[in-house]
Amino acid sequence: MSFVDVRVRFAPSPTGFLHVGGARTALYNYLFAKKMKGTFILRIEDTDRERSTLEAEKAIMEDLEWLGLLWDEGPYRQTERLSLYKEHALDLLKRGLAYKCYCTESEIEEMREEMLLKGIAPRYNGRCRDLSEEERERFEKEGRKPAIRFKVPGDGEITFEDIVRGHFKFSLADIGDFVIMRSDGIPTYNFAVVIDDHYMGITHVIRADEHIANTPKQLLLYEAFGWKPPQFAHVSMILGPDRSKLSKRHGAVAISQYRRDGYIPEAMNNYLPLLGWSSPDDREIFSMEEMIEAFSLDRLSKSPAVFDIGKLTWMNGHYMRSLPLEKIYEYSLPFFLEKGFSMNEEWLKKVVFVYREHTSTLREMVEEALPLIRFSLPFSSDVEEVLEGEDVPKILEAFLEVFYPFKYKEVSSSEIWELLKEVVSKVGLKRGKVLFPLRVAITGRRSGPELYYIIELIGIKEALRRVQEVLSYIKGK
Ligand code: GLU
Repeated sequence: MSFVDVRVRFAPSPTGFLHVGGARTALYNYLFAKKMKGTFILRIEDTDRERSTLEAEKAIMEDLEWLGLLWDEGPYRQTERLSLYKEHALDLLKRGLAYKCYCTESEIEEMREEMLLKGIAPRYNGRCRDLSEEERERFEKEGRKPAIRFKVPGDGEITFEDIVRGHFKFSLADIGDFVIMRSDGIPTYNFAVVIDDHYMGITHVIRADEHIANTPKQLLLYEAFGWKPPQFAHVSMILGPDRSKLSKRHGAVAISQYRRDGYIPEAMNNYLPLLGWSSPDDREIFSMEEMIEAFSLDRLSKSPAVFDIGKLTWMNGHYMRSLPLEKIYEYSLPFFLEKGFSMNEEWLKKVVFVYREHTSTLREMVEEALPLIRFSLPFSSDVEEVLEGEDVPKILEAFLEVFYPFKYKEVSSSEIWELLKEVVSKVGLKRGKVLFPLRVAITGRRSGPELYYIIELIGIKEALRRVQEVLSYIKGK
């Protein structure tokens, strides 16, 4: 059996941020490469010079790195390979498989409109295919700079088997001669992609299904060069909840936004592949290693998948709790610092230990933990109303009495729990009736983790100070 080394590429155009759809394409390529012990290549398709920026390129790479989708080769940049494309365009010219086209943009536009009026699908009408020497000279004299067009063979059809979508058939009569080199010497996408995929030894092209319509053009170029085309796997679209193509309208679509919102790469890397791929046993939670092991192209789905932020958030919560504490601490550190927490590793790790249990994102966790470092009266009205209960002064006083002797002591959460129970019996009310107002007095919030953890984290001295302050506040009301 002959064995071909798998080589795949992720080929983003650096014209914007990395979209969840792009990240999913990158993931499928990455997973397949790892699964097959192949090579994952990063290629920057920056031939759209007006829209491509270095910042976008950098941002895309940063997002890939954040996800841990490290490329084995690259990044290659198409603008650094212009002479390669040129050489191949000239080769096609020389062999009569391409021709110089002098049509201006407005002429092409006119042609388009005419065809539309006649009810024909617009395509290039072949006007420059057979220019005479004189006509060519006249155009050159006029100072027109030619583009190079590929001569699409007159009739017949072109077919291919897509790994995901099966058999495709295109009639050549529907494909007009297409530009491979613009007049400024920059190749078009369809041309550069073929040259690159060939010379980079790409075996499988896994990409968005919006490129299906480009595939016949690319196959014609493979044929013209006598090269063997790669296999194609066109992955289905991602939809928003209203079943239209996922876009900004539906909420965050940039990977960097999810990162800023406190999502963690493990969750993204688990959730995104499930939009269009499923495991044979419908399992949902996969570590990267497990996903690589389970992944196969034949389980990619033909039908579009609906992006479900609730599901992603749920999964994120799962990883918040199941990843090593150390890791969540590392991920959350920038969020803590941004919110004004000070850098105290041991203490922050305890905060993570307590708060990750009840929260789904890093941002939410840090937000929930804010009362540890911020305390100011008055509280919001729905919180203050708790302090209006007639037993509240009595409860706060009992707290002060029981805890005062421990003001300067290091006390563990279990000891604090014992002391809280003592407060409860001193007041003589049900546990909840006592602990709820205490929680409110100490945190300014109606809910949160166990009170003994909170007191341990802020320290008894600070808890006493807060309770004292609230007591004076309600007495003064
Ligand atoms: N640059 C193209 C895009 O971002 C890549 C298409 C391809 O993978 O062939 O859509």
